[in-house]
Amino acid sequence: MYGIKDAFPNLPERIEGLRDLAFNLWWSWHPEGRELFKQLSRTGWYLSRQNPVRMLNSLETSVLKSASEDPHFLRHYDAVMARFSITTDPSASWFCANVGDASQRTFAYFSAEWGLHHALPFYAGGLGFLAGDFLKECSDLGLPMVGVGFMYPAGYLRQNITPDGWQAGACEIMDRENAPIRRVRDRDGQPLIVKVPVIEPALYLQVWKVEVGKASLYLLDTSSDRNDPSNRCISDRLYTGDQEQRLRQEIVLGIGGIGILKAMGIDFSVLHLNEGHPAFAILERVRDLVAKGMTFERAFEKARATTLFTTHTPVPAGHDVFSFQLMEKYFRPYIGELGLEWQQFMKMGTDPKDPRGFNMTVFALHSSAYHNAVSKRHMEVSRQMWRHLWPDLPDRAIPIDYVTNGVHVPSWIDRTLGDVILNKYLGRDWLENHDNQAVWGLLEDIPDDVLWRNHTRMKRRLINFIRDRARIKWFSQGSTDCRLPMASGVLLDESTLTLGFARRFASYKRATLLLQDVERLKRLLNDTWRPVQIIYAGKAHPDDDQSKGLLQQVFDASRNPQFGGRIAFVEDYDEQLAQYLVHGVDVWVNNPIPPMEACGTSGMKATLNGVPQLSILDGWWMEGYNGSNGWAYEGAYGQDRDQRDSQALYDILENRVVPLYYETDDRGIPVGWIRTMREAMRVSGPQFSARRMVKEYTNRFYRKCMDEVIRS
Ligand SMILES: *Cc1c(COP(=O)(O)O)cnc(C)c1O
Repeated sequence: MYGIKDAFPNLPERIEGLRDLAFNLWWSWHPEGRELFKQLSRTGWYLSRQNPVRMLNSLETSVLKSASEDPHFLRHYDAVMARFSITTDPSASWFCANVGDASQRTFAYFSAEWGLHHALPFYAGGLGFLAGDFLKECSDLGLPMVGVGFMYPAGYLRQNITPDGWQAGACEIMDRENAPIRRVRDRDGQPLIVKVPVIEPALYLQVWKVEVGKASLYLLDTSSDRNDPSNRCISDRLYTGDQEQRLRQEIVLGIGGIGILKAMGIDFSVLHLNEGHPAFAILERVRDLVAKGMTFERAFEKARATTLFTTHTPVPAGHDVFSFQLMEKYFRPYIGELGLEWQQFMKMGTDPKDPRGFNMTVFALHSSAYHNAVSKRHMEVSRQMWRHLWPDLPDRAIPIDYVTNGVHVPSWIDRTLGDVILNKYLGRDWLENHDNQAVWGLLEDIPDDVLWRNHTRMKRRLINFIRDRARIKWFSQGSTDCRLPMASGVLLDESTLTLGFARRFASYKRATLLLQDVERLKRLLNDTWRPVQIIYAGKAHPDDDQSKGLLQQVFDASRNPQFGGRIAFVEDYDEQLAQYLVHGVDVWVNNPIPPMEACGTSGMKATLNGVPQLSILDGWWMEGYNGSNGWAYEGAYGQDRDQRDSQALYDILENRVVPLYYETDDRGIPVGWIRTMREAMRVSGPQFSARRMVKEYTNRFYRKCMDEVIRS
């Protein structure tokens, strides 16, 4: 089905397997896969920013030829290819052993964002990484999952901060020829084209495939020249501010997404909606059944009984509401085909408490049998938010359950920590069994100095990486203003206690909370013997000037000499920078306004690597904090909450975090601190892993949906 042979025509036959390996993101979470590409050309790997497709496209034929004749390289090549074919074989897996034959069924996971690797910039934040980590874990467990999302040619924004601290990001047009994605072709070898119903003038989709181990992700692309110019840009970029464009995106994602699966002959039985954006997929499933002769009622019941909807945020902007006029413009004729009355359809998406338009979350709640929030706290909040949709039910019976998010352990664990230290002390099968609590009990056996040496190595790598970026930026700007490299972290110091704060600059995340009390902050940072430094990173939404203002405040602090170069703002937070940060800082700081952080996942990545979290009690930390794996404080209420929350934060830093970090034994090792690091890993490794999460989704929801398929 795919045009495979057209890539890397000069790849020698002996190492031809590199073609399939390069196009399967399997390498991104299997260190031996990455190592093989690095062995091929260290410079090529660096220059391609760890993207093997780009690298193979640019390597000289002579380099490839000599690799194909080098016995040392070939030994590694053969070993990696053997591993690749074993671990992508679907028959040996948790799913087959515990649930059923994976070839008999398929699940579909729809999401507007996908965070898989920095070479594929189809994400803005946590929602995307959740989807990406989910799919990788489905591959590891052998769940027969296909993902559906958008190919955003303009990706999300590449951040560039002007000398006065304003985010002047630009969308970098993605270079499809050099990305690990392949165009899906039809039987004749032509690019597959699928027409989307509903939108006039007619809209045609092209499809791209990303291989994610055993799982596949299909990306919709509206840029075909067959489309009216106004339609070509529908999938241009993530989260446009224009309501009509956004509605069209969601029509393409939901309805077009079902259309492409059908066109490719992928018959799925369970539908999982990641947030409300793709909820129109339910309608298209119903339309299909009605076209086959079912009544609307039966068709709806059947689609509903096999759909799971995950809600992700209490923030209003996360719940799309489209005006009734807009809905009318796009959906009138379509709804007629379903045998559904217009008023009835509108009612399915109207929030009785706020009836200003068609609400995608309300529609998704009405049209799916199973609903879940992403942490226990978020479930309680979501039940309160939506309890009026079920006026007859008592609070505890509101049908919104929860599955707390988790992170994909092989993707986020530091390589040396996982491959060398945990392999040695937890046993070589630790990764295979990482959701088993007992495995992590063996962390106690790791000597303090081994853990500490590895931590300081990760920290050094982070600081070197940041300095390198600062150097490149200074160089490329050609500015003589020395405050710029200072602001981007050249004065960071390896022996200083380092706080990390990296996340989207959404205002509820309160990036500037730590900067509230300048005098207290100065004392904390500039202490002679026990100094502190802070590394910031994160993007503001391109249409959100308020968030850009917050970012500017952080940037101003970072170049303010009063803070002595101990605050750094690192540009362009993406997957790669996140990897360095969650491995290399000493403390992960999190201070949203409760209960706005539905779950949060970056803190899970940090704690997995022995970086304890200091967080307000919200999201996953309500379940994760146990008194000895980090620090927590209750959020304040009322007008001066920011003021009081920031004081609580400084109190913990001054009285608990700083003393513990700097209290070392006669070898210079902070023994108490290392106890906290170990405890952070012990809690997060099993419990906040994507493995625990995917198993929970399977056992609690997918199984019920599958039973329904068998019954009907
Ligand atoms: C994990 C991750 C996120 C999500 O972090 P939160 O804690 O939910 O804010 C966002 N961006 C990147 C690059 C990540 O890796």
